Amino acid sequence: MSEITNGKNVAEFFGCNVFSDRVMRERLPKTVYKSVQRTKQLGIALDKDIADVVANAMKDWAVERGATHYTHWFQPMTGVTAEKHDAFINPHGKGEVILEFSGKELVKGEPDASSFPSGGLRSTFEARGYTAWDPTSCAFVKDNSLYIPTAFCSYTGEILDKKTPLLRSMDVLSEQALRILRLFGNTTCTRVTTTVGPEQEYFLVDKKYFDQREDLVITGRTLFGAKPPKGQELEDHYYGNIKQRVSDYMKDLDEELWKLGIYAKTKHNEVAPSQHELAPVFTTSNIAADHNQLTMEIMKKIAIKHGLYCLLHEKPFAGVNGSGKHNNWSMSTNDGQNLLDPGDTPQNNLQFLTFLCAIIKGVHEYAPLLRLSAASAGNDHRLGANEAPPAIVSVFIGSELEGVIEALENGTKYSYGDNKTFEIGVDVLPDFPKDTTDRNRTSPFAFTGNKFEFRMLGSADSISCTNTIINTIVAEELCQFADELENSQNFKKDLKDLLVKTIKEHKQIIYNGNGYSEEWLEEAVNVRHLPNLVSTPDALPEYITPKSVALFEKFRVYSELELKARTEVLLENYSKVINIEALTMIDLVRKKILPAVFRYTKDICDTGASKEAMGITASVEKDLAAKLSSLTEGIYKETAVLEEKVIAAQEQECGLPSARYYRDVVFAQMQTLRCIVDETETNVSEDIWPLPSYTTLLFSV
Ligand code: ADP
Ligand code: MG
Repeated sequence: MSEITNGKNVAEFFGCNVFSDRVMRERLPKTVYKSVQRTKQLGIALDKDIADVVANAMKDWAVERGATHYTHWFQPMTGVTAEKHDAFINPHGKGEVILEFSGKELVKGEPDASSFPSGGLRSTFEARGYTAWDPTSCAFVKDNSLYIPTAFCSYTGEILDKKTPLLRSMDVLSEQALRILRLFGNTTCTRVTTTVGPEQEYFLVDKKYFDQREDLVITGRTLFGAKPPKGQELEDHYYGNIKQRVSDYMKDLDEELWKLGIYAKTKHNEVAPSQHELAPVFTTSNIAADHNQLTMEIMKKIAIKHGLYCLLHEKPFAGVNGSGKHNNWSMSTNDGQNLLDPGDTPQNNLQFLTFLCAIIKGVHEYAPLLRLSAASAGNDHRLGANEAPPAIVSVFIGSELEGVIEALENGTKYSYGDNKTFEIGVDVLPDFPKDTTDRNRTSPFAFTGNKFEFRMLGSADSISCTNTIINTIVAEELCQFADELENSQNFKKDLKDLLVKTIKEHKQIIYNGNGYSEEWLEEAVNVRHLPNLVSTPDALPEYITPKSVALFEKFRVYSELELKARTEVLLENYSKVINIEALTMIDLVRKKILPAVFRYTKDICDTGASKEAMGITASVEKDLAAKLSSLTEGIYKETAVLEEKVIAAQEQECGLPSARYYRDVVFAQMQTLRCIVDETETNVSEDIWPLPSYTTLLFSV
């Protein structure tokens, strides 16, 4: 327990390190407070004098909490966060300082942007970019610095970060959803926000063993490792009781997150040994995105304190489930309505079905965009590998809701229970028991009662891209619906016609069965013609198709140039990741693995020779030495081939050709090499093998 939390209950210290709305109300003059609220709601710039007052109050508050520095905190296209700290000190008189923080410093920063990926949007001679305060996400104190959440742009105005498009997409969705709400007679709501609750999976391994594995240290995943005798097959870990060491970690983690105002709520063991999950209470999507970044960072930091290492990689261990991040998503009005809650009047039900149909249509039309929002080298190991949804996007709505939709399509009544029926627009939707929503968890995009759960994201990814895409495609469909209905003379009839048409045209995307099965793959691809973008290089070009560019430009979420830049950054990242992995493999083989096998082989030969000198046959030793000899020969040869291929990769044209080469040639060769090394591991004494085994890593915490 830290000083702050000692003896206090959670309610007393929750958010104590956040410059929250409450703190602002307490510390700012009323007129200033009101200006900040207006800025938050309308996105208008703060007057300079007012910004000075806010900055000063922030500084005083932060200094009371031990802060000496401030930093603009932003989310470049690397997918992780960036920060540069400046002290509050300003020289004052001889050898003295005063602490200052101006409105100008609060509102705008000018980090050297040249070292962040820009996808060619900014060359180094115009290196400056700027960061701009996002007043909708609260500033906070961490590690003696005041953190100010900001957006990050180039000087010519192109966005270079993940926050700006998300904020734009939220505005766009709100605007279009309001048009629909007005059609249903809602005159009070002025803002629709998208809400997100990301469930975060992670592994904990002992730091001591982590440090002994160059592959984990450098790439975040094991590049070699024979299958342990026991993996997850006994299914005894999921929801199992939490070991003391892990429980202590989780307790510390919760406390740190709570101090930062993050609603960490649920924690449990996951399917794989040493795998766990943390889920927060949902909040507005851009805050959820900021909080998820902080959560990942703090998960790692607290682990070190406990002698552990937190692995956020999507696939740290082959043959064992990897980690994902379920993105629970909904929309709610500022008058308190969850738009994906069916509601309990016929009118609300109709409104719900309208939003539902818009989402179904959006997912069908823009499935490739959703797929690419989860694309990364790490996540390629999971999607479609029987542990996460396939790379094919489909929508689960459950059999009851499918029944309702079918009845709507056919103009019949939906029958349920003992001769009960439901007619759209006339009756109230039956209460669907919650456990009929998707419990098999194999659907990539599942309706779970009052929200959709997008399950393709990888554990290490930022949630911003996914949510930017979901918001924008839903906005597009709502816009189309509103365009069609706003001039209607007979709203109810025209709406029904529109919904029926939508269902007819887009029901192929609805699939309630087992998404992991072979039959589904077959049906999805060959019968329903749904796109199957198996790997990252297959998915990323979808960003810049004419259809995608038209969508994002229509709503000014991304320009074509920004989309091209993003695609380039992601493709380049993909190639770099595989390049680093391949080089790490080569290094490990030559410097650690081969020398260890040689030593072991020598031991065996020595033993054999001693035996034979005493007239005892050494057939086992001979056998084993011959086997190891042939394995080492294989390792040696395949490593040389891998090296050649890595060198040849440098010759490939940047972007897509290079990414494809890394996938088809380099990665394939890495798999070949891994196979022989893993086989060798099972034939060598554990004392000599230079890397802690899977059993040690997975079962020692
Ligand atoms: P499960 O593992 O059964 O899916 P969890 O409790 O682990 O459920 O996670 C559910 C997540 O969904 C939580 O983060 C929760 O806050 C979030 N959630 C619930 N309602 C909404 C909503 N309306 N909008 C967004 N997220 C939501
Ligand atoms: Mg969960």
